[in-house]
Amino acid sequence: MDNSFNRSRQPKGVPAGGEFASTPHAESSLKLQIPTAPAPQGLDGLAAATPTVIDTELAELYYQQAKAAAWTSGFESTIARYEKRGGSAPGHLYESLAEAARAEAEVQATIKPFEAEYTRRGGWTRFFMVMNNGGHLHSSRSCSTCRPSTQFGWMPAYSGQDEAGVVGLAGEDSCTVCFPSAPVDQKSMLPFRVAEREEAAEAAAEKETRAVKAASERVVVGRKVYKTVRGAENEVGWQVECMISSRYHQAADAAHRAGLDANAAKYYAEAREIGEAIAVTVPGYDVDALLTKKFETKAKMLRKSGFPMPEDAALEGPVV
Ligand SMILES: [Zn+2]
Repeated sequence: MDNSFNRSRQPKGVPAGGEFASTPHAESSLKLQIPTAPAPQGLDGLAAATPTVIDTELAELYYQQAKAAAWTSGFESTIARYEKRGGSAPGHLYESLAEAARAEAEVQATIKPFEAEYTRRGGWTRFFMVMNNGGHLHSSRSCSTCRPSTQFGWMPAYSGQDEAGVVGLAGEDSCTVCFPSAPVDQKSMLPFRVAEREEAAEAAAEKETRAVKAASERVVVGRKVYKTVRGAENEVGWQVECMISSRYHQAADAAHRAGLDANAAKYYAEAREIGEAIAVTVPGYDVDALLTKKFETKAKMLRKSGFPMPEDAALEGPVV
């Protein structure tokens, strides 16, 4: 079988006759790709081509036709805007319009023998998927449940196949107007739906893993919740810094001293409480090591900035 006419316009990355061979057009900007008419030997091959081969080609041709039509109407409306103001559009716009119109006519002419072959054989089954949310599988693009603006994905891979078989595969995805006896209580086993379900399951599993990880890092201190161990450790550092500031501050008198020492004791108790909570989250966590490290880091930082601290200052060292 000569199906050479089938290859040249296949979208990149989509195997000929594959699932949705005509639909994954990722191009963001329209680009005119003027198809070449099939050579006579291509048309010889047409009589022997399978419905899938023919419909795959047709799906691509209809896509090209829609693109060319969009270009044509785009140039027409641009030119019309110029002419409405009483002038004429720049010459290149008329040239572009002519080129787009010629491309559109050429695609239409290319389509003809393929549709003629469909008619010659008395037609065959065709399947179209509405790709928006909740879209169904239809037997034609003129289904009464769809609007003129509905976008269909032609599924040429199933063209010519036994309707009951395809609908059985599609299950819940089947349109009950096109296929009244569809087993709509069955999950769709159309390959792209199966892939969708697998992706959704993977995403849910990943989300669960992240949630478990987040929960495993949470540090709870009374009503206060630190999302991460690092966050709780930073708070310990802050409490230790407050403790040092109070403990080694030069007091004005005995009452001031007593107040500062009471505050220092409070900050220290808070630092230790958070440290103990981290140890609940992280079994085996060394709270004393954390407090000592924070004390040393903060003391160094405060000394550097000129804060007067005794030489023997230590985490549980003597107060001033
Ligand atoms: Zn339908």
